[in-house]
Amino acid sequence: MADEKANKDAYSTTGGPGDSRKVGMSTFLIHGTAQTARWDFSHHPVPPLSSSVTYRLDSAERGGRGFLEFGRRPEEDTQPVYIYDRLDEPTRSILEDDLARAEGGEVCCTFSTGMAAISAALGVLLKPGDHIVAYGTIYGCTYSLLTRWLTRLQIATTFCDFTEVQNVRAAIRPETRVIYAETPANPTMEMVDLGAVCALRDEINATRPADQRVHVLIDNTFASPYCQRPLEWGVDMAIESLTKNICGFGTDMGGAVICGRRYEEALFMYRKDFGGVLSPKSAWAILVYGLSTLTLRVKRQIQTAFKVAQFLEGHPKIGKVHYPGLPSHPQHALALKQMRSTLGTFAPGTLLYFETREEGEPARARSLINWAAKHSYCITLAVSLGNIRTLIEAPGIMTHAALPPEAQKQGRIAPNGIRLAFGLEKAEDIIRDLEEGLAQA
Ligand SMILES: *Cc1c(COP(=O)(O)O)cnc(C)c1O
Repeated sequence: MADEKANKDAYSTTGGPGDSRKVGMSTFLIHGTAQTARWDFSHHPVPPLSSSVTYRLDSAERGGRGFLEFGRRPEEDTQPVYIYDRLDEPTRSILEDDLARAEGGEVCCTFSTGMAAISAALGVLLKPGDHIVAYGTIYGCTYSLLTRWLTRLQIATTFCDFTEVQNVRAAIRPETRVIYAETPANPTMEMVDLGAVCALRDEINATRPADQRVHVLIDNTFASPYCQRPLEWGVDMAIESLTKNICGFGTDMGGAVICGRRYEEALFMYRKDFGGVLSPKSAWAILVYGLSTLTLRVKRQIQTAFKVAQFLEGHPKIGKVHYPGLPSHPQHALALKQMRSTLGTFAPGTLLYFETREEGEPARARSLINWAAKHSYCITLAVSLGNIRTLIEAPGIMTHAALPPEAQKQGRIAPNGIRLAFGLEKAEDIIRDLEEGLAQA
C-alpha cells in the first residue's frame, strides 16, 4: 500500500496517442494535459481567460447534442459543445481536469465557493428523512449548514468524535447516507483514519441495497491534494475550498468536489440548477497562479510549520501544540501513514493549533492575538488559510463561533486556542514576531 502511494507522483502527460511519458505532480500542475480535443489551447502557454456567457452553435442539431450530453461527458476525448457559462465553460474545465488528476479522481465539479461545493455534495446524496454522521469538529459554516438548513429538510445530523472509529459505528442508523469529516480537523488538527472509516462504510454497505448506501465525504481543504488524497483511501467524494491552499494567494474564492464518474451527472445538474458556478475569471487565476505553484508553496509552508511548532513547543508560556508533524501529536503514527506528498515525503500540513498557558480566563491568548493585530509585521489577524501571508485567529470566538459552547467543548476547541495558517514568509521572522508577542502576553 505504501509503495503504491509513493508511486502517485507519476502523472501521464498525454501529449497524444502513444505518449507514455510520466511527470511529477509539480510538473503536471503547471502543464496539465498537453493535448486534448476538449479545448484547443495548445498554442497558448497560458490558457486564455474565456469569458463568454453564451456560445455560438454551428447548427440546431449541434445545440441539441449539447443539451442532450450535458452532465454526461463522453468517456472518449471528444470536443464538448459549450452552450452557456452556467452549464460548462472551457477555463473551468481545464481546472477541473487538472484538479481531478491531482486528487486522484475521475471527475471534478467546481463551484463558486467551498460552501457551495459542500452544499452540492450533500444535496445530490440526501433527501428528507436521511441522516448524516459528522465529525463534531468542523468548519463553522458547515456546522451551520447541517444544523440550521438541512434540518429544515428533515435531514438530521449526529455529531461525534471521529478520532475513534467506533463512535462513528455507534452513530450509524438505517437512514444514514453520509459520513462527513475534515482531516486534519479544523482547528484542532485531530485526524480521521480514512482507511478505517471507509472499511466501516464497506462493511455497512455490504448488507444494504444500492439506494440505501452510505457515502464517505471528506473536506480536504486543510491538507490539499499535496499532503493527502482521500480518494486513494476509498473515500467517495473529496471536497476542497479552492479559496485556501489551492488558490494560494487569497485573491479568489472557489470550491470543488472530486469523485468517481458515478456522481458526475448529478453534480453538474445540481450546479446548473442551483447555480453556484465558479466564475471563469476566478477559475483562470486559480489555474494559472494557484494550482501551478501549489507544491512549491505547500512544501515551504510545511517546513515553516515544523520550525514554528518546535519553537512553540519549547516556549514556557505555551501549553499544548497540535501539529500532526510533531511526535507529541497523539495521532502522529496515523499522520505518517496518511499525510504523504505524491513523492512519498511526510506532508503534515500548513497549519497548526496551540494553546497558551492560562490561569483561568484566556487572557494571554487574547493578548497575543491583539498584539499580533497591532504590532506584528508578518502575522496578520484574519480568518482563512493557505495564503502567502501568515494568518492568526482565535477559533473559539471567530471561525467556530457558530458552534455552541457545549459543542466547542466536545470538539476540544479551547477558549485559549490559537490557529496559525502559514504563509510564505521566512520562518525565523514569524518566530521573532511570536517571541515578541509572547514576551508581553
Ligand atoms: C474555508 C473553508 C470552507 C469553506 O470554503 P469557502 O470557499 O470559504 O466557502 C470549508 N471547509 C474548510 C475546512 C474551510 O477552511
